[in-house]
Amino acid sequence: MKRLGILGGISPASTEIYYRALNEGVRDRLGGFHSANLLIHSFDFAEIAGLQQADEWEKADKVMAAAARGLEDAGVDGVLLACNTMHRCAPAMEAALTVPFLHIADALGERLTADGRKQPALVGTLTTMEHPFIRARLADNFGIEPVIPTKPVRDEIDHIIFEELCRHVIRDESRARYVEFTEAMKADGADAMILGCTEVGLLLDDGNCPLPVYDTALLHVEAAIAFMLD
Ligand code: GLU
Repeated sequence: MKRLGILGGISPASTEIYYRALNEGVRDRLGGFHSANLLIHSFDFAEIAGLQQADEWEKADKVMAAAARGLEDAGVDGVLLACNTMHRCAPAMEAALTVPFLHIADALGERLTADGRKQPALVGTLTTMEHPFIRARLADNFGIEPVIPTKPVRDEIDHIIFEELCRHVIRDESRARYVEFTEAMKADGADAMILGCTEVGLLLDDGNCPLPVYDTALLHVEAAIAFMLD
């Protein structure tokens, strides 16, 4: 099995999801006592959220590239960033690495394409919804152009992510709001819902979402398991 490096802690709630799913996935594939061969660099979330809030993306590039390189120097065979938003720094991380960087939008784009989705909705942090780094990669590599909610809805989605989900606060009222947002986007023609934030699976899944769910965290984990084992 290849050893995977994880850039995590963005937020810790997200890394918990990845850690559990990676270990379960490897055990399902290999059986017995097998579990995922991982090295995790878990950031202090305040440091990363602070860079985002201050709009310090050049500094963020340096921090993320140094951490990615640190994992490579420690001996991993590939690096995964367990978060959508900081993929804004993906070019800097890719430039710092000689081992593969498993981009979250590639795992997503492959599945959307396989399922023939034409107009998925995208929810995530304001950075992910309003800047092109995920949407452009989907458009350029897969010809898929996700739609995003209106500004007031984007603000509310972002608020729930940072004030609740990243702190592991799960509220039924917030889940109901996300379902309402999905209904509205479905009425506007969306044919799928991309959970473009790795904590949103704490609220939405195929059991409660009015559109088919594409959870970036879980799709990313599937791609990572294929990388480690195939
Ligand atoms: N984990 C989140 C994401 O997938 C958001 C948290 C953050 O980046 O600050 O985008």
